Amino acid sequence: MKYGQSLTVRPVRNGLGIAALRAFDPDDLICRVRGRIVTPKTVWGYWKTDPRRGANCYRFDAELYLDPEGEIGAFANHSCNPNARLVRTAGGLQLRALKKIAVGREVTHDYSTQLGADDIWTMRCNCGERNCRRVVANVARLPAAVVSRYRRLEAIPAFIIATL
Ligand SMILES: [Zn+2]
Repeated sequence: MKYGQSLTVRPVRNGLGIAALRAFDPDDLICRVRGRIVTPKTVWGYWKTDPRRGANCYRFDAELYLDPEGEIGAFANHSCNPNARLVRTAGGLQLRALKKIAVGREVTHDYSTQLGADDIWTMRCNCGERNCRRVVANVARLPAAVVSRYRRLEAIPAFIIATL
């Protein structure tokens, strides 16, 4: 599945993921995360009927989520050593490069950076990175050193930091 000239969706270590069809430099826009804005109640409903869809939802602001079903954002996987970060702009959510990303590499971000302290969702992690935390949980449960590194890199949206 190709998404424009820059990205494709292909099998990766854990299911399907987004891979780069061109090199990205730090802070390059990788893609906009499009989808339907939904309430927490809707996401809660997904947990009962379609847990995969629930897990794919992004926190959008203090009160709302974004459901990327049918869009490339539905394939963005977590890594404990991510090469991309989520940025919230007036126009919505973006994935931007945290570091250089070579052609063919999977694009990943750290799910904990989009889970406010009030999000109770957790996931076992199998990212394979040396610094893997084994369990992905909300931002309040990130090790302090990771939080300060991410804050320096502006890798945690302000509305997520506000929940700390
Ligand atoms: Zn991990």
